[in-house]
Amino acid sequence: MSSPETVTQAVAPAKVSPDGCVAVVNAGSSSVKFAIYEPDARQDVRYHGKIEGIGTAPRLKVERPDGETVSERSWRAEALDVQAATLEVLRTAADLIRGSPIAGIGHRVVHGGTDFAAPIRVDDAVVAALKRLIPLAPLHQPFNLAAIEAIAQAAPHIPQVACFDTAFHRSQPALAQLFGLPRKFAEEGVRRYGFHGLSYEYIAGRLAETAPELARGRVIAAHLGNGASLCAMKGGRCVATTMGFTAVDGLLMGTRCGTLDPGVVLYLMDEKGLSVRDVEDLVYRRSGLLGVSGVSSDMRGLRASPEPAAAEAIALFVYRVVREAGSLAAALGGLDGLVFTAGIGENDPQTRAEIAAGCAWLGLELDETRNARGSGRVSRDGSPVEVWVIPTNEEAMIARHAAAVLATI
Ligand code: AMP
Repeated sequence: MSSPETVTQAVAPAKVSPDGCVAVVNAGSSSVKFAIYEPDARQDVRYHGKIEGIGTAPRLKVERPDGETVSERSWRAEALDVQAATLEVLRTAADLIRGSPIAGIGHRVVHGGTDFAAPIRVDDAVVAALKRLIPLAPLHQPFNLAAIEAIAQAAPHIPQVACFDTAFHRSQPALAQLFGLPRKFAEEGVRRYGFHGLSYEYIAGRLAETAPELARGRVIAAHLGNGASLCAMKGGRCVATTMGFTAVDGLLMGTRCGTLDPGVVLYLMDEKGLSVRDVEDLVYRRSGLLGVSGVSSDMRGLRASPEPAAAEAIALFVYRVVREAGSLAAALGGLDGLVFTAGIGENDPQTRAEIAAGCAWLGLELDETRNARGSGRVSRDGSPVEVWVIPTNEEAMIARHAAAVLATI
């Protein structure tokens, strides 16, 4: 296993070259994902990989962009925590790009609170400020920060850049961020933040390149993956989004329930004796497509299932997207385009067709052949609302942000 000292040696030299590769790290509770981008063409990924199964059966797999596996390894469960896994990732990265140094590391950090509206180079003060946000995102933030701290200790000469999932949503008007609670709670940070921001920022950028006129208009981006949300954008800036204080709000997701009457939580705790942890487990891990279907959290699994409850879970997923799309269209004052992205949005023409049918009243008219092909514009010529499929790439967005911040150092 890599100790901080062996990692320090592996990622030498002590002075970082601005021409080095850019690494991207996305650390969670049970996995550390990473990618290494070219020094010159920063958008070309050289390798991507992950250590999964941290806490159970940690295993590393690294691939080239063409899918060829270049490295695989496994450990005993107790051998790796998130910090140790991050150091393994760093050492693996240094081995892979031997000869060309790492210029800097971009991290996905889920919560930037109200202060961080843009990527920032991490120092002790930034880490301290981000630690204060842990109570707002206890399932993600501690692991994002553990990775940053592990690298800062082992390789203090490598600049690190934090990129926030909340940052893109800081442009929401004040009203869109307020809950109907006493004001003091908003002042203490209980407000609607929104997540998936790196994905939406990437989509906004791609849309500006491929359909500039539409990008200047009123667009809903639908990030439909295991986690799912919608974002209303006007001129490429967020004006409203379905996720709120946490990433459990809004749409039905793989295992998350989405919007839930708070009275249900009170009932479960009062009448059914559920603890706070029980409710957390219920709404984050046992609900959504999994909970409603009793079959699977995975859209492919549900589509393949003959169970009526699987069909009903899909129907509820679509219904919730359609209702929230109506709500965001109201926030936008009309709609010019809808963009599908992420696992379901990019790969499931049937779900796209069902959502488009539910949103027909808004002016969405799909072209069947284009929808079956599933890339670029999938609406009919002349459709009042354009419909697009654009693959998201949060890693590339983080690499781009990291490169931009590194260029200023
Ligand atoms: P993500 O979290 O973006 O990786 O998305 C994961 C979700 O995308 C899962 O529900 C998958 O079942 C779904 N997905 C991926 N490929 C397909 C596909 N070809 N058809 C339907 N759903 C898919």
